[in-house]
Amino acid sequence: MNVEDQNLARYFEIARSARRCAVLTGAGVSAESGVPTFRGEEGLWKHFRAEELATPEAFARNPELVREWYEFRRSLISEIEPNEGHRALADAESVFETFTLITQNIDGLHARAGSTNVIELHGNIHGDRCNHCGRIRQDDEGLTCPCGGPFRPDVVWFGEQLPQEAIERAHAATVSADLFFSIGTSTQVFPAAQLPYVAADSGAFVVEVNPEETPFTRHADLSVRGPSGEWLPRRSTSSRRRARWPRGEASRIGR
Ligand code: NAD
Repeated sequence: MNVEDQNLARYFEIARSARRCAVLTGAGVSAESGVPTFRGEEGLWKHFRAEELATPEAFARNPELVREWYEFRRSLISEIEPNEGHRALADAESVFETFTLITQNIDGLHARAGSTNVIELHGNIHGDRCNHCGRIRQDDEGLTCPCGGPFRPDVVWFGEQLPQEAIERAHAATVSADLFFSIGTSTQVFPAAQLPYVAADSGAFVVEVNPEETPFTRHADLSVRGPSGEWLPRRSTSSRRRARWPRGEASRIGR
């Protein structure tokens, strides 16, 4: 048995008995639905990189441009559907005693797929809030809040703090997990990217699912090289090596 086989065997053993599972997802989970990731080539918009638009400085400099980019992304997202990866993650809620889905995605697709326990670390693209007082914009309001501040997308931009309550809940779920998945994230945007490391340090068995290698890959207990929408939903007919979730079969996983 090589190292990978040993890790795979351990994964099946742990997945069968794990009680507390936590998952961190990133843009890659939605890629198969047609939402561009930030770091892929299709992540460019009008020659701007996301890092040049999703910042408080960009909004202060040119709010129209930033709003136009978000309108473009909203229209894109409104036309797409959750994929099999999102649905498999929604299924997992009924498998474990506790299951926490922590996402960096702002597209709302996990909830649309049926997940109920979702921590949206970076907010949700479908809302707006006041840049000064934080009040959520109502449908019949314009671009300016009654307090005088400009409304902006209700998301966390590069260089901004994550909502304290969200990061605390995510951290608590991560340190108590016995099984942790890092799925479709480049593990380059902190502090979310810290969570797989925290899970590993806290003793969880950590599985990474990503077609590409990431800075976290060498720390993962099991690294699955493949698209989440294909790997997560796989069902096994083999009772001998069946994990409770994902119900993958050893011979078909990541190799
Ligand atoms: P990222 O763009 O940095 O990385 C995406 C990762 O997904 C890459 O490692 C890539 O190899 C992997 N990937 C691509 N296709 C995949 C697939 N089919 N299955 C599994 N993995 C796949 O994204 P990130 O790590 O989430 O971090 C960047 C920031 O991007 C976050 O702040 C997030 O809020 C934001 N973002 C969100 C969305 C969204 O809501 N859908 C889209 C783009 C960016």
